[in-house]
Amino acid sequence: MATAFIGLGSNLGDRLGYVRQALEYLEASSTIRVREVSSFYEAEPVEYPDQGWFVNAVVRVETPLDPLDLLNELQSIEKRLQRQRTIRWGPRTIDLDILLYDDDLVAEARLQIPHIRMHDRAFVLVPLSEIAPEIIHPILNQTIRDLLEELPRRTQVNLLDDQANA
Ligand code: AMP
Repeated sequence: MATAFIGLGSNLGDRLGYVRQALEYLEASSTIRVREVSSFYEAEPVEYPDQGWFVNAVVRVETPLDPLDLLNELQSIEKRLQRQRTIRWGPRTIDLDILLYDDDLVAEARLQIPHIRMHDRAFVLVPLSEIAPEIIHPILNQTIRDLLEELPRRTQVNLLDDQANA
């Protein structure tokens, strides 16, 4: 069994609903055990500022899948949710990223672990440090807490209200 951290994000339509639905799909998967779920956050868009704010969360899972099979499983969940959203909202609702997979380093064309941008993204580090502050980034050799504290430009990431996090 491996321990992996997965980042979830949505910025279109019923964002919280899509994140919750993705969580349900993860929980229903016979090859993924969801062990811990962060709070839900609302985060300022980073790469393309000209779009809506995201709802983000991070989960810790255990899985017998190797990293590429885990990616396949996540992409099939993304497809299921995109199919729903294509009808209702148009393109783009859910993004599922493998952030860390044990201490493994993966450098394949379709998969890089640790996720190549996780260490400079507040919307990843804030929820990740809530559930795993002491985990060490296997390339940078720093804890998640330290990476978050040292972020040079920290974009806004706010806890969603009590109702969302009830
Ligand atoms: P995006 O448009 O940001 O969702 O990027 C999706 C693409 O990123 C997919 O085609 C994946 O093959 C690739 N990818 C590379 N590394 C990762 C990772 N650690 N987790 C998820 N997708 C990844």
